[in-house]
Amino acid sequence: MLLRHTTEEIKERKALTVNPAKTCQPVGAMYAALGIHGCLPHSHGSQGCYAYHRSALTKHYKEPVMAATSAFTEGASVFGGQANLVQAIDNIFTVYNPEVIAVHTTCLSETIGDDIPQIVSKATASGKVPPGKYVIHANTPSYVGSHVTGFANMTKAMVTYFAEPAEKRSKTLNLIPGYVEPSDMEEIRRLTELLGIEAIMFPDTSRVLNGPLTGKFRMYPEGGVTTAALSKIGAGAGTVALGAIASGPAAKALDTKCKVPCEILDLPMGLLATDAFIDTLRRIAGVNVPEAINYERGQMVDIISDMHQYFYGKRVAVVGDPDQLLAWTKFLVSLDMYPVYLVTGTPAGKKFETALRDATRDVPQEVKIKVPGDLFLFHQWIKQAPVDLLIGNTYVKYIARDEDIPFIRHGFPILDRVGHSYFPTVGYRGGIRLLEMMLDKLLDRQDRDAPETAFELTM
Ligand code: SF4
Repeated sequence: MLLRHTTEEIKERKALTVNPAKTCQPVGAMYAALGIHGCLPHSHGSQGCYAYHRSALTKHYKEPVMAATSAFTEGASVFGGQANLVQAIDNIFTVYNPEVIAVHTTCLSETIGDDIPQIVSKATASGKVPPGKYVIHANTPSYVGSHVTGFANMTKAMVTYFAEPAEKRSKTLNLIPGYVEPSDMEEIRRLTELLGIEAIMFPDTSRVLNGPLTGKFRMYPEGGVTTAALSKIGAGAGTVALGAIASGPAAKALDTKCKVPCEILDLPMGLLATDAFIDTLRRIAGVNVPEAINYERGQMVDIISDMHQYFYGKRVAVVGDPDQLLAWTKFLVSLDMYPVYLVTGTPAGKKFETALRDATRDVPQEVKIKVPGDLFLFHQWIKQAPVDLLIGNTYVKYIARDEDIPFIRHGFPILDRVGHSYFPTVGYRGGIRLLEMMLDKLLDRQDRDAPETAFELTM
């Protein structure tokens, strides 16, 4: 077995991570930047970093990911990357003509201490940034945080660079969808439109990383929030941010800079979280919930009542990004399932850990939580006392195989399956999909293990 070296006995580790449950900040920054229309993400560091960031996204979304790099060599590593970045800005606008270059730093450029705003000012002063074009940046040192921190930093940069305080408020809402799939962003927009609400969603990777195959290459796909829309977020009636860790910093920055009040919610995964999302939109925009949304909700309630008997009391282990982890935990608890092992690789802080503890307070079994933790510890817990279901990204498949446990792929990255970026797991429809995924796994296992005398046609 692939992870047979994982021991059941747990030893205290303080400065060692084994099988991390996260990836590096620039991956998330690049993903967020792709959610601006006409944006070319730029990795300020070596070609190796850039190649990794692009390939991590390409392998998950199964789409070509366009980006650029400062291509550090030994000289830049010693003397700093200013010359490389100024040259890169000139080349990129001349050759690829994006609306925006979104620069994120890397471990190397952060260690050198490159001052990106100063370098961009120099490029602007020397005429390398054409009129009407933008260069934005986020600091994303990968020795702190994770890909989620990188996403949050680049989303906050959209506020820093584009939001302008306004004297008159518009009726438009700002929506920050969190580090979710393009299909989730599409679903969040669909629900908002059903409510009849005008909204600006940023970032928005739908129709960028889940677009159709047309036979024609487009350097900049049709999706993404436009810079014109971003320039209006400072006048918004309010901001609804989904996921405190990925979306909270941008929402708070917009509140501070432009006095746009924000509400920070859980990701709308599951019945109760989707109810909270719909109700918040309804309240802020002063609209009624249409019958179409009530209908979808009713379907989800019906399916939950049909499935509850199979879910009751099942032990589940979840590893994932913090916003997803909290949403999963609350969803599982609402189904009377027992989320007993909870791990995120992102250092999401004490407040987040407390939220997880609060969410599992009534689970009638011991619940183990590690923030930040790694997959090694997660596996050790499972070895000590197994679970009925595993939920996590592709890396969890090794544990699932070793321990022979049903496994649902969810989160980032999913490297060994296709289609996840086309089907939402948020909203009522997404919730129904999650329910179906869980029940299929549990009943497939029951079928597999049933003796012939108990192999039932109807279950
Ligand atoms: S060196 Fe840092 S920024 Fe580059 S790929 Fe590794 S962790 Fe990411």
